[in-house]
Amino acid sequence: MAIACGTAQRELAPIWNAVLPEVGIEIVIEPFGGECSASEIKRLTSKGESLRLQAILGAGGGKTSDAARGVADALNLPVVITPTLASTDSPCSALSVIYSQAGEVETIRFYNRHPLLVLVDTQVVAKAPKRQLVGGLGDALATWFEARTARSSSSLNRVGGLPTTTGTALAKLCCEILLADGPAACAAVESGATTPALERVVEANNLLSGLGFESGGLAVAHAVHNGITEIPESHKYIHGEKVAFGLLTQLVLEGQPQSEIDEILKYQRAVGLPVTLAEVGVNIETEEQIRTIAERAVIPGESSHNEPFPVSAEAIMAAMKSADFQGRKLL
Ligand SMILES: [Zn+2]
Repeated sequence: MAIACGTAQRELAPIWNAVLPEVGIEIVIEPFGGECSASEIKRLTSKGESLRLQAILGAGGGKTSDAARGVADALNLPVVITPTLASTDSPCSALSVIYSQAGEVETIRFYNRHPLLVLVDTQVVAKAPKRQLVGGLGDALATWFEARTARSSSSLNRVGGLPTTTGTALAKLCCEILLADGPAACAAVESGATTPALERVVEANNLLSGLGFESGGLAVAHAVHNGITEIPESHKYIHGEKVAFGLLTQLVLEGQPQSEIDEILKYQRAVGLPVTLAEVGVNIETEEQIRTIAERAVIPGESSHNEPFPVSAEAIMAAMKSADFQGRKLL
């Protein structure tokens, strides 16, 4: 059963329908409802239970692949992921971020198995809106800085082990590729063309960032993302856009050299990632929303506690305000 977003139904379903019967594979296409929620996974699982399935295919963006892994786990089947966007590092992972129907992060589910196969057609990715690729840059750019932090504090990674040298090195390679090739990859998507720079960025976003965050670990950037999802006006912004502001917050909170903060600020601005709170739907007129985000970012079990020092909501608020101020100066 293929759980497919709109793009996959349009771009990939004709290929599946033409090719798979020839090799003896029957495919049932089920449209993805749009939110990776517990109820959507349940709905798709019930569909799957009524069929004699051998595998689940998830075709779409990060939420589609997260939902497909949830369904495959519930049905104890292998999962194949075919991303149609390079918007997150979800495809290669063995977890799902579960959202409420209203779009807030509820929990993370961890699975015993990774996808059997992750297959990306970069010609499909090249046709996706540029914003999706840019979001992927934000999600994947944070990977190195979060893995660096998790390693410095010997925090446990997403699979419960210490960060590996391999995971940390892959996260760094991911960052190097994004800094070097990100702008050229954005230009490729704008012209709908598949270029070597786009191929490298797709590999960085989908593969290296996935291996980097899962084996390396997360920190404040994703915790702030999770906090931002508490603000209803942020729901129209994609995952990587909110992570990008989280990354700026993390660098300020950690007291990283201003040269590094400036480099990331300028890069994010150049490729079209948010550098201010207003750009992810947060109202800074009062402190109320900033406090809501910060308090959510430090709940027990959040990745903000992977920093090598205690992290309070007040410290996150101060870092968010400073990052926002620095970002506004660039506008
Ligand atoms: Zn992410």
